[in-house]
Amino acid sequence: MEEIKMVDLLGQHNQIRQDIDSAIKSVIDSSAFIRGKQVKTFEENLARYLGAKHVIGCGNGTDALQIALMALGLEPGDKVLVPAFTYVATAEVIALLHLVPVMYDVNPRTFNTDAQVSLEYMDEFVDERTRAIVPVHLFGQCSQMDAILEFAHRHNLKVVEDCAQALGSKCTVGDKELFAGTIGDIGCTSFFPTKNLGCMGDGGALITNDDALAERIKMIANHGQKVKYHHDLIGCNSRLDTIQAAVLDVKLRHLDEYISARRKAAASYTRHLKAFDPLERYVCTPAECDFTTHTYHQYTLIVKDREKELSQDKSTRDVLKAFLAEKGIPSMIYYPLPLSRQAAFQNIAKKREDFNPEAEDSLHNSEFLADHVLSLPVHTCLQEDQIGYIVEAIKEFYLSANL
Ligand SMILES: *Cc1c(COP(=O)(O)O)cnc(C)c1O
Repeated sequence: MEEIKMVDLLGQHNQIRQDIDSAIKSVIDSSAFIRGKQVKTFEENLARYLGAKHVIGCGNGTDALQIALMALGLEPGDKVLVPAFTYVATAEVIALLHLVPVMYDVNPRTFNTDAQVSLEYMDEFVDERTRAIVPVHLFGQCSQMDAILEFAHRHNLKVVEDCAQALGSKCTVGDKELFAGTIGDIGCTSFFPTKNLGCMGDGGALITNDDALAERIKMIANHGQKVKYHHDLIGCNSRLDTIQAAVLDVKLRHLDEYISARRKAAASYTRHLKAFDPLERYVCTPAECDFTTHTYHQYTLIVKDREKELSQDKSTRDVLKAFLAEKGIPSMIYYPLPLSRQAAFQNIAKKREDFNPEAEDSLHNSEFLADHVLSLPVHTCLQEDQIGYIVEAIKEFYLSANL
């Protein structure tokens, strides 16, 4: 059996090495490293794949989120709703623009924004300064977009989807199946190498069906100019490199295969784990919602605490992680802290308690998840024998204890 890796970028690259080499060579030959023709070609191809009107490349996924909020014309002090259980970038850009991140909780089984948990109590503190919501499609599954759109409509909020982990996932909205990132006002994605569609460095994109927003986004990403050296808006310098666009255009042709490989690995994990009878008492395998496909950017377990570790003041999740590591199995904790426990947000972010003194523990799911999640290796080259080995190791962990 080959060494088990959390992600296997080289394995993926080896399958398409020649096409990537020639794509890169053609950029070098043209030497149009910035705003070369491959950027436009890739933007158009991705827009066609997603069924979106506009895709605008930019420097990375974090920039995409920042540019989206800038394009929506929010004013300093405006509030933006954001889940507490996400990668920091989602909320960082809100704070960076002197907007106020208002954190809400996520569903504890899907890790995402939903009607029952997240939106349930937000009516009570959304006011005229609340201008936008940034749902995240975490780990490859979409947040509950129909409920989010209804909520946003009711409160006149803009919707910016963070689909950095869910490019290629589809969500049912009304009678349509739409790609993640094409449902709200703007979708923001990342081409960080390990994402569903990854490049060989940094890259990102914004997705929108709104012509006027697309125009503003293009300007903001390019120093606020439409005509060279004529700056109408304050913008930034955030471009998708031509070389990265050329690489992405090759890999886009394989995105469906990559997604199938991830889904196959995930289905295999779940089948094996569910067949192991006592496991359900200890571990939750990822829940699949009926309104969204799951592209398994991560395969994330919830590891419950057992008496055995609790009595020693330890976390079962951490003990399992160490046990797997000893057997040569990498695993990761996405994310060990919710936003509410990040030092940088202590004096910046708000939560339900800040508006309703009687509310308490409004982010308890996010806090629980940070202490109990464990992501197993999942990538496009993961082999069945490797999955079998990982599952056997997990079984051994639970069988070696007093079941
Ligand atoms: C990766 C990621 C980002 C940021 O993307 P970068 O390209 O690394 O800047 C934002 N949000 C989420 C949820 C991510 O996973």
